Amino acid sequence: MSELGELYADLGLSGDELDLLAMPRRSFTVHFPVRMDSGRTRMFIGHRIQYNDARGPAKGGLRFHPELTIDHVRDLAFLMVLKCAVVNIPFGGSKGGVVVNPKELSRNELEQVTRSYIRAIAEFIGPFKDIPAPDVYTDSQTMAWIMDTYSQYMGYRVPEVVTGKPIIVGGSEGRSEATSLGVVFCIREAAKKLGMKLKGSSVAVQGFGNVGWNAADILHHMGCKIVAVSDTKGGIFNLNGFNPRKVFEHKEKSGSVVGFSGSKDVSNQELLELNCDILVPAALEGQITKANANEIKAKLIAEGANGPTTPEADRVFEEKDIFLIPDILANSGGVASSYFEWVQNLTREHWTAQEGNKKLEVKMVKAFNDCYDISKKQKTNMRNGALILGVGRVAEAIRTLGFWP
Ligand code: NAD
Repeated sequence: MSELGELYADLGLSGDELDLLAMPRRSFTVHFPVRMDSGRTRMFIGHRIQYNDARGPAKGGLRFHPELTIDHVRDLAFLMVLKCAVVNIPFGGSKGGVVVNPKELSRNELEQVTRSYIRAIAEFIGPFKDIPAPDVYTDSQTMAWIMDTYSQYMGYRVPEVVTGKPIIVGGSEGRSEATSLGVVFCIREAAKKLGMKLKGSSVAVQGFGNVGWNAADILHHMGCKIVAVSDTKGGIFNLNGFNPRKVFEHKEKSGSVVGFSGSKDVSNQELLELNCDILVPAALEGQITKANANEIKAKLIAEGANGPTTPEADRVFEEKDIFLIPDILANSGGVASSYFEWVQNLTREHWTAQEGNKKLEVKMVKAFNDCYDISKKQKTNMRNGALILGVGRVAEAIRTLGFWP
C-alpha cells in the first residue's frame, strides 16, 4: 500500500471510499475552433476535471499552457478538493485549462480562445456546479471574458460563475494579496508554536511573482528581514535585508530582481540553502528534493507554491525537525478569498479589503490550528495533519450524503 494509502486507511476510510476518492467525478476534454488573426481557423484542446463536489460546487483554476495534460489537471483538481476542505469553505475541487502557449497569441486571439473554450464547457459549469478562477497564464481579464461569455449563454449577468475578476465587474478587494496574506498568517501562527520571534527573523523567498512578492512585502511590514528573493533569472542576497518594494520597482524597470543595488547575486539553488530563519518557496513545483533538502537551514518553511517539496525532502525535514507548512494549508488563502468573492457576488454586496482580510485571518488561523492539533494528536508532521483533515472532511461529507449515483 502506498504511503498515502496507509494514511487514508488510518482515517478509517473503507475500500469503497478510497476507490471513490481515487477517481475524479467528471473529467472531460473539448476540441474547439478559433478564428485566428490571419483569418484561418485553428483547433484547440481544452480539459476540465471536476474532481469532487460532496462539500459544494467544484472550484478551481483555469490554466493556459502548451504542455498541459489531463493527468496534471487531475492532480491539481484533487489538490483543490483538499485545499477547500482544509480551509473549510463549501466547495469541492476542479481544475482546467487549454493546451496553448499564450505568448504566441495576440490579445484578440487569447480572448477568442477563452470565449470559445467557455462556450464549449458552458453547460457543465455554473455558480452551483463549477466555478473557474485564474491560474498559470490566465488573469483577471481572462476571468472577465469568462463571465461575459457565460452571461451571454445564460441571458443575464452571472458574476458568481467565476472568481478573480476585475473589481469593476464584481472582483473582490484584496484578492491579489490574499494568497500571500494567508501564507503570512500561517507563518505567524507557526512562529508562535515554535517560540520564534517574527520581528527581526530573516526570510528568503523563492519566486518574486504574485505570491512571493506580496509575501515578502507583508513580512517586511511585520518587521522581518527579507534577506533574499529570486525569479527565473536568478536571486539576490543581502544579510542586512532589503525593502521588497524597492526590489519590485527595480524588477519593473529591468525585468528581474537580479542586479538590485547593494545585493549579492545568488543562484536559485543557493537561495534555498541560505542561512535564514524562514524559507518561502513561491515559484514552482519540485524545487526542494532529496538532493538539496539536507542543505536547507531554515527552521520554518511555508509552501507558497503548489508542490515545491518532494516526499523524500519531507522526510529529511522531519528528521531535522524543520517545521513545514504544506501547500494545501499555506496557500489556501487564495481559494478562501475566491469563496468570499462568490459570496459577495451572490448577495450583490461589496466588502472592503479590511472586511475580507479579517475574515481571511479567522479562516486561516482556524485551519492552521486544526492541522496543528491533528499533527500533534497523531504524532505526525503538518503535511499529514492537513491531509488527514482534508480527506477526512471530504470522506465524511460523502458518507453523510450517501454514495451516488
Ligand atoms: P507568478 O507567475 O506571478 O510568479 C511566479 C514567480 O516565480 C515569478 O517571479 C517567476 O520569475 C518565478 N520563477 C519561476 N521559475 C522559477 C525558478 N525556477 N526559480 C525561481 N523563481 C522562479 O505566479 P504566482 O501566482 O505567484 O504563483 C506562484 C506559485 O504559487 C505557483 O506554484 C502557484 O500555483 C501557487 N499558487 C498561487 C496562488 C495565487 O493566488 N496566485 C494561489 C495558490 C497557489
